[in-house]
Amino acid sequence: MLLTILGSGTAIPVPDRFPAGYLLQTQTAQVLIDCGPGVLRRLVQAGGDLHKLDAVLLTHYHTDHCADLAALLFALRSPNFANRKPMHLFGAPGLLRLVQKLTEAWPWLQPRGYELELHEVLPGTFPLADLEVTAVPIRHTAQSLGYRCTTAAGSVAFSGDADECEELVLLARDTDVFVCDAATPDDEKLDGHLTPGLAARHAARAATHKLVLTHFYPACDGHDLRAEAKAHYDGPIVLAEDLQRIPIGQPDWG
Ligand SMILES: [Zn+2]
Ligand SMILES: [Zn+2]
Repeated sequence: MLLTILGSGTAIPVPDRFPAGYLLQTQTAQVLIDCGPGVLRRLVQAGGDLHKLDAVLLTHYHTDHCADLAALLFALRSPNFANRKPMHLFGAPGLLRLVQKLTEAWPWLQPRGYELELHEVLPGTFPLADLEVTAVPIRHTAQSLGYRCTTAAGSVAFSGDADECEELVLLARDTDVFVCDAATPDDEKLDGHLTPGLAARHAARAATHKLVLTHFYPACDGHDLRAEAKAHYDGPIVLAEDLQRIPIGQPDWG
């Protein structure tokens, strides 16, 4: 599997970090985890292609994680994508209402020339192409899910936005890579979010093999986030950058 960071930032606009988005490529599938504003452009910058995209998994409905849903639905109506494979959207209950309300406001988001499949996800495991996806409720909003994606080649967990909770340890248990919210430095914790030190404590308890810190607010600038995490976790630590590629498990992607 190959993970590409498309957006390591937040709702606050900064030049180098787009809001949340991650591309996961397996042998047979391409999946977006979250699609904050601008992430579709980042997808193309990273060499991705909407023709090949199978699914979008949304961690929650804050707009820094899903605003490009409207851009995606509008783009897919283009004759460029006529007769493409179905697009699958996954998210906690509320997804159908969100898409319905968006389509009421913007009738031109109605699918045309392709099939849109909406899946409201409850905690548990479901198949997606060659992936097994496990959704775990996470402490952030009432509709927040973390996703753990596993193939024969490896495993990766995405916290989405997250505050301290046992479910994060369950989500990331023994994964090859744990992509985790580390919104602000240790001494500036925000409600509903983690810091590098807190992310690292959860990663250590989960015994994940590599910790990728992400979702950095501008408050992180100038702080040694790696040192804050290293104090609590012995494994490799990556500070996410937009367009960075992170191989996961065995190199099975095409
Ligand atoms: Zn966020
Ligand atoms: Zn959020």
